[in-house]
Amino acid sequence: MKIESTLHNHVGGAPLAPLSPAPEYLDVISPVDGARLTRVVLSGPDDLDAAVCRAADAFDAWSNRTLKDRTQVFFRYRTLLEANGQELAELVHRENGKTVEEGRAEVLKAIEITEFACSLPQIAAGEVLDVSAGVECRVEHAPLGVVASITPFNFPVMVPHWTIPIALCLGNTMILKPSEKVPLSAQRAAELLTEAGLPRGAFNVVHGSAAAVEAICDHPGIRAMSFVGSTPIAQRVYVRATGRLKRVLALGGAKNHLVVVPDADPEQAAQNIIASMAGCAGQRCMAASVLIAVGPCEPILERICAEARRWTCGRELGAVISAQAKERIERIISEAESQGARVLVDGRRPRVDGCEGGFYVGPTVLDGVAPTMRVLDEEVFGPVLVILRVPDLESALAIENASPYGNAAAIYTRSGDTARRFARAAQAGMLGVNVGVPVPREPFGFGGWNDSRFGSGDITGKSSIGLWTQSKKITTRW
Ligand code: NAD
Repeated sequence: MKIESTLHNHVGGAPLAPLSPAPEYLDVISPVDGARLTRVVLSGPDDLDAAVCRAADAFDAWSNRTLKDRTQVFFRYRTLLEANGQELAELVHRENGKTVEEGRAEVLKAIEITEFACSLPQIAAGEVLDVSAGVECRVEHAPLGVVASITPFNFPVMVPHWTIPIALCLGNTMILKPSEKVPLSAQRAAELLTEAGLPRGAFNVVHGSAAAVEAICDHPGIRAMSFVGSTPIAQRVYVRATGRLKRVLALGGAKNHLVVVPDADPEQAAQNIIASMAGCAGQRCMAASVLIAVGPCEPILERICAEARRWTCGRELGAVISAQAKERIERIISEAESQGARVLVDGRRPRVDGCEGGFYVGPTVLDGVAPTMRVLDEEVFGPVLVILRVPDLESALAIENASPYGNAAAIYTRSGDTARRFARAAQAGMLGVNVGVPVPREPFGFGGWNDSRFGSGDITGKSSIGLWTQSKKITTRW
């Protein structure tokens, strides 16, 4: 993809220059090496309004096509995602900093969700029943109109695709507001959707930051919206948009606890725990953050540290999103150390040959952490793992369940009974047994609990049908 020197909104299938006489722009910096990739427009309410009008114009024609017909566009789109997968993965690498392989994994997940959307005619066909002699009730899923999706920086391809194929196949038209830090992948997705035959105006990209999000919350023409990002912003967006009587699902941040017991397979546990903590440079809402060792687990903990030392920045480990993020993560580690924590594996200030200007933090493991340290409660969003030690599973569950978040939690054990006790009692939306990133595969939905999610239902899978449609009940006497 040729990267333009300025990235404008994508409205009605083409770039749209900002409407303000004095538009604002933000430089997009590659975390890989600190190079400037482009600059992106920061939209205001007028720019959003232009996109909503275009999406509203496209709604009638798009929603009047049959569900089967709409999914044909996404069969073609799926093929285009596959054909352009490597290019997209490299774009993700450039703008987000994660490795090309991790970018590729995002594209595969986008393909999987597109396949799920293509199966909607089988799932969302509606229901019909003869409720008495000659009287029939039928239920149909009707689209809402113009909907919006606001996404974070950490998955430039995957998170937008949690919503794009499903909301559009169901007959809505859409505004995507991607993170201003990673606007390029969304732009490429918009081009591929047009190439797949999606009518112009059905999908629009509005770039920007807080002002654009606030305009989305307030716009009376947007019926429903999803938000994915940090908890404080998710809360603010949820309150503001529901205050404007919109349907909202807002997913927030996380602090995920992984529990290891002595009967765990040491090799499997070590590899899986470090992959969860260090994959995507720890910038995953599903990342392992706190490891709770139950009883005598020393041999497993030693293997975990050995595995962490094996991950090398620039090879297995990508960059974090910005210089500020790197500085913040390293400050949190140093703060814990100065308060008495032991740094078993130290990832601060790594050298990455050829990428000296990049923003890298290596895998870091902390032990001896006191309850007062912020590394224990705050979402670090970097490759940092804290080890806690407790005598029994109940104590581990008490720590996990005291967290205000509830995105993911996992246990490493070979005992079915221990796994079952954990799965019954853990207060989180997505649980793993010997799986450190327990993202449900389609058709099961993605969504956490507590401060990791505001609103009801999941953002993908069958339950997302309820987010993007309203049910129409038709009673007929023949
Ligand atoms: P963020 O909250 O800073 O930004 C998310 C979106 O909100 C972006 O589009 C951004 O432009 C916009 N935004 C930023 N500041 C705003 C403001 N003041 N008002 C309104 N909108 C604003 O999140 P991020 O740093 O891009 O992403 C990382 C966070 O996202 C982490 O907390 C991570 O856990 C979370 N996340 C959660 C999930 C999940 O499924 N629960 C998935 C991915 C990421």
